[in-house]
Amino acid sequence: LIQLYVPLNVLGFVYRQLRQALTDMETMFALAAVRPDVADRPDAPALAVAGGEIRFQAVDFGYDPRRPILKGLDFTAPAGATVAIVGPSGAGKSTISRLMFRFFDPDGGAILIDGQDLRAVTQASLRDAVGMVPQDPVLFNDTLGYNIAYGRPDATTDEIMAAIERAALGPLVASLPDGLNSRVGERGLKLSGGEKQRVAIARALLKDPPILIFDEATSALDTRTEALIRDGLIRDELTTAGRGRTMLVIAHRLSTVVDADLIVVLDDGRVVEQGRHEALVAAGGLYARLWARQSAEPQTPPEPAPSEPTP
Ligand code: ATP
Repeated sequence: LIQLYVPLNVLGFVYRQLRQALTDMETMFALAAVRPDVADRPDAPALAVAGGEIRFQAVDFGYDPRRPILKGLDFTAPAGATVAIVGPSGAGKSTISRLMFRFFDPDGGAILIDGQDLRAVTQASLRDAVGMVPQDPVLFNDTLGYNIAYGRPDATTDEIMAAIERAALGPLVASLPDGLNSRVGERGLKLSGGEKQRVAIARALLKDPPILIFDEATSALDTRTEALIRDGLIRDELTTAGRGRTMLVIAHRLSTVVDADLIVVLDDGRVVEQGRHEALVAAGGLYARLWARQSAEPQTPPEPAPSEPTP
């Protein structure tokens, strides 16, 4: 039996390593669900970010060409501004974030960063310049520290700890016996949706990109994450000394966008109105109706918070 034990143990190890590799690969593919037609042009230059102005110019897009989702979408996020994209469910808000990261190319029109068409620059330089906090971040089957420092492998422990504090993850990390070395993901610690978003926020803080896209979760966030967003803490924290940052907030709840520099209201793939909160409420259009409806809704209860290690 002893003779069998060692090879079986080795086999088990190999199996676990293989599964880990496959899961990481799946994660990568899920993260970069690219279409084969999204490719760098030969000799494409790197994106040169000056202020970080984002411009959608008459953008048409459909996941299926027979069903258009964005229909001549036009808006500009000025350099350094915080711009919220709002609108009814299915209006195409999250689609905008996918196009910004070039998971897909528009069928018509163009998306420009500081005047450069996203299709004309390298994807690597685009993804360096754009940070993304997705709705439902996928964590790697690795340690919490790895998941936060991913994208900035040279980050020092001090920098990682600072990002953790700013993303309101301090109490969670302090409560874990293995701290940053705790394993998370499929076979580790199960984090709540809000905690996963805060890990993605810490990752984005560490990456420190000139453009940040924050796709707010549709489902109930925990109260800490919601406060981070509502109180504009993310914007404040993400605005580094001396350098503004353009931030696009894909907002599924309006309470978090009241202070945005510009609110772009989308309906059925088009911009129907834009402006600041007070002006839009006074205008009595779609935003005012969404605002009235949401204000009347009972508040969604926060997620049950504590994470439990899986057996
Ligand atoms: P919500 O507020 O409900 O998240 P949204 O405004 O963010 O909505 P999108 O996620 O951009 O909406 O989706 C717009 C439309 O595109 C929806 O009708 C959706 O069904 C469709 N859609 C989204 N992702 C895909 C996809 N990967 N393949 C095909 N259709 C998709």
